[in-house]
Amino acid sequence: MHPLKIVVLLVLFYLLYRLYVSGRKKRLEDKKSGRDAAAISDVLVQDPVCGAYVAKGQALVLRDQDGSERHFCSDKCRRTFIEQKQNSSGGTA
Ligand SMILES: [Zn+2]
Repeated sequence: MHPLKIVVLLVLFYLLYRLYVSGRKKRLEDKKSGRDAAAISDVLVQDPVCGAYVAKGQALVLRDQDGSERHFCSDKCRRTFIEQKQNSSGGTA
């Protein structure tokens, strides 16, 4: 075999090796940050008394006897709701 052919083959293998190594480098830039937790606190809830929409984190919460939650814009609405409920359930039957 001619010595020059061996050199050419070595260069070829070297180039192939370089291509192989550079192709194997993977990008690790797909980092997803979980921002869902912050979005949940900004959910709007409706006040059943006055109909206003309040951010859930700022609303007054009243847990019903059946386990459901009511959200109110103010303590006034919450008291109004409690009074209405007592009137409807207790008085007229
Ligand atoms: Zn209200």
